[in-house]
Amino acid sequence: MNHDDLNRWSKRAADWATTYHRHLRDRPVRPAVAPGAVAAQLPPAPPEAPEPMEAIWADFEAIVPGATTHWQHPRFFAYFPANAAPASMLAEQLANAMAGQGMLWQTAPAATEIEGAMVGWLLHALGLPADWTGTIHDSATTATLSAVLTMREAALDWQGNAEGLAGQPALRLYASAETHSSVDKAARIAGIGQAGLVKVPTLDDRGMDPAALDAAIAADRVAGRRPVGVVLCVGGTSVGAVDPVADCIAVAKAHDLPVHVDAAWAGSAMICPEFRPLWAGIEGADSVVFNPHKWLGAQFDCAVQLMPDPADQLRTLTLKPDYLLTPDTPGVTDYNDWTVPLGRRFRALKLWFVLRAYGLEGLRARIRNHVAWSRELAGRIAALPGLEIVTPPALSLFTFAAADEATTAALLERVNADGRVYLTQTRVDGRLAIRVSVGQFDCTHDDVLCVETVLRELTA
Ligand SMILES: *Cc1c(COP(=O)(O)O)cnc(C)c1O
Repeated sequence: MNHDDLNRWSKRAADWATTYHRHLRDRPVRPAVAPGAVAAQLPPAPPEAPEPMEAIWADFEAIVPGATTHWQHPRFFAYFPANAAPASMLAEQLANAMAGQGMLWQTAPAATEIEGAMVGWLLHALGLPADWTGTIHDSATTATLSAVLTMREAALDWQGNAEGLAGQPALRLYASAETHSSVDKAARIAGIGQAGLVKVPTLDDRGMDPAALDAAIAADRVAGRRPVGVVLCVGGTSVGAVDPVADCIAVAKAHDLPVHVDAAWAGSAMICPEFRPLWAGIEGADSVVFNPHKWLGAQFDCAVQLMPDPADQLRTLTLKPDYLLTPDTPGVTDYNDWTVPLGRRFRALKLWFVLRAYGLEGLRARIRNHVAWSRELAGRIAALPGLEIVTPPALSLFTFAAADEATTAALLERVNADGRVYLTQTRVDGRLAIRVSVGQFDCTHDDVLCVETVLRELTA
């Protein structure tokens, strides 16, 4: 295959994609496929001789779409969405066509400078201070890991990087049990350890108890442990819990500790000024992550970390071996210094396309619809016999359950076997609950209300 062939096949791929998206509603959101069924169709070894693209394409069509969970299906209400607005897909095609690698300014001047500009646009869009800065990671997990590594190094005066952690005091990181497992992963990878991650108790609204945070930090100091920082959540993954940002930051600052805020999902909603009271006090944070790939329409992967001052993170993550030096090194931004991986994709392009193609008003309208439709749907489910709301809508996420665990589990199985909608589960204070997360980029009011139709039929 050469670039002329690629041109022909790209046109065919574009046509295929149009048909795929046009008929997505006719497919079950989640395929009825048994584990191992796909692998069983692939030979154990690659071909020795080149194969014609026709044959490869035919196998793609025969094997892949029917065994795919359709994240762009308008009735995908599972987990959180991983949106891909059409303008974002177009940008990805162009980035793919150039296939660059943006580790340094010199290896990607346009990607580097558009990334800087998009960080500025997003600060404006979210109502964050214009003098903050930031970068784009693959995932919120990596952004949180970068922030936690930075906290650790600042607490150890950069001796962890230099000498390792042997001989250092026990390290302590603080987060509530509502924060995402990526915080646990960061604590483990950063050498803080699971035992060093203090799960601070929450109040009745599932937000972190600032007094309990204060007490936990004080007790650790007395015991000779070394607190490194606090991770707050705005929009927890299970039921959308929100920590009281201003109060927790005040406690952290009183102990001279940095704060990272995980708003991976809910951050996108902050383009709507009416939702910003949810994270009031955010300008006191040292780092904030949100995923435009979840709710803003930028195709996976795209996680944006925003911060008032990158100096500590740069000191933690920058390495300048000879083979990465460039004549323009002083004075330019080399974004690999900000992140864990060296190599980086051109993720800023899809942000540029999405923000321009829909405008902030177009993106706000979608998020406002999702929030309003989610509330309406929760009200309708509450009225169905045998079902009750377990947690009310936090933005566009709520949970419901049947009277007992077995009935709830069976109902979820039947909903997903039906295939018209896709829902997933969580536990709320030990109780099994079904999550409904509204936010797919192209979903309509009818798509959202389809959840009620399916539940009504299956519980009748
Ligand atoms: C989805 C999610 C994450 C993890 O996101 P990745 O980008 O997949 O690493 C972290 N925190 C919260 C609150 C999330 O909802």
